[in-house]
Amino acid sequence: MKRMVLGLFAASLFSLPVMAEELTLYKPIDILGHDYQLQEDSYESTDTAGGLRHYVCADCGDEYSYETDPLVYVTNPKTGEPVDQANCVNPLLPDWEHVPDGEPQVYWSKEDKEWRVYLYGSHDQSGESFCGTDYVTWSAPVYDLSDWRYEGVILDITDGSTYGGQVLYAPDCAYDLQTDSYYMISNQVFDASVLRVASSPAGPFDETKAVWTGSFKTTYDPSIYIENGTIYITGACRKTEESITDADVFAAVTADGFTEGKGQMAVIYQLKEDPTEGDGIEKISWLPNDERIFTPIYEGPSLYGFCEDLGVYLYLYVSVETGADGTDYNSGIGYLWTDDLMEGPWHYGSNGVEGDTVESEEGQSIVGNHGIEFNAHQSVILFYFFVCS
Ligand SMILES: [Zn+2]
Repeated sequence: MKRMVLGLFAASLFSLPVMAEELTLYKPIDILGHDYQLQEDSYESTDTAGGLRHYVCADCGDEYSYETDPLVYVTNPKTGEPVDQANCVNPLLPDWEHVPDGEPQVYWSKEDKEWRVYLYGSHDQSGESFCGTDYVTWSAPVYDLSDWRYEGVILDITDGSTYGGQVLYAPDCAYDLQTDSYYMISNQVFDASVLRVASSPAGPFDETKAVWTGSFKTTYDPSIYIENGTIYITGACRKTEESITDADVFAAVTADGFTEGKGQMAVIYQLKEDPTEGDGIEKISWLPNDERIFTPIYEGPSLYGFCEDLGVYLYLYVSVETGADGTDYNSGIGYLWTDDLMEGPWHYGSNGVEGDTVESEEGQSIVGNHGIEFNAHQSVILFYFFVCS
């Protein structure tokens, strides 16, 4: 999400924030019906060898298992031809569909019996203005990124939401291998970030049943990462008129001594094993927390998580800088990295996309916005999009 001026204006039209503690939360077993746990005879796919996932419900003993393909396809299973991504060109989606703030994730599809990329993001329903009241997802097999399929609406708050908010900003989704389930964090403007769980990557996520809710102000454009069953939620927070009213943000930004730029920072919440317990937060980490250089975090943070190839945790974000004419602009996609997710220190990696701001022409402003990289078929692909207004 960009366009905060519009957002702040819209805020005055909305109802008062819903207090998280008033809301009913649901344990995953109450939503999914079972408490499936990964068994020790399971193993994950490698590039060249398939995997096995075996689950037993800790509650009722129900069990199932399934095999997964090697991660890298040499031949296209549908055509028998060598994999060729030559037909994968932009735009990926039909011209009537708008899913910006893209957070693509690679998951095994039990229905299709193949690795697929699922694209999560905001949904510019009208195509004329940003965001809307539902999320949709699209998917494509990793061996043919030109073959996108509509997976339908995965969350809908058009008729109102149990957890507040009237518009949905940028979401994110993560797979929990330990329980074979999918978690989605939605940004329900301007009330809360809401965590829900489903048994399929295409949801649907039950609007009325949340696992956890967090402050909208500290988890702007939230992102989710799950490691060994532990859920981490991150979001951008700003030293601005809206966020400065949040005591936590104020204390953190002040303590961190950020006086340059806009004092943006981000937060990572490590959730409790049972996120419905109390505020659900096990640990909080503010970042960046080491280098006193201007790190222009603006919005759209994306916690990539641990990158095996690099041996570090990666964190992407949309940066903002002030131009020569004094106006702020989204200047690119930057990244931070660390060896220790919750303790840091985080190191500034500068902008990852060069030249992603485009000259305006005929009254249009065009800026780079929101990106995340993912691994598919031995390639790291950086997703980002341009906003034209
Ligand atoms: Zn069960």
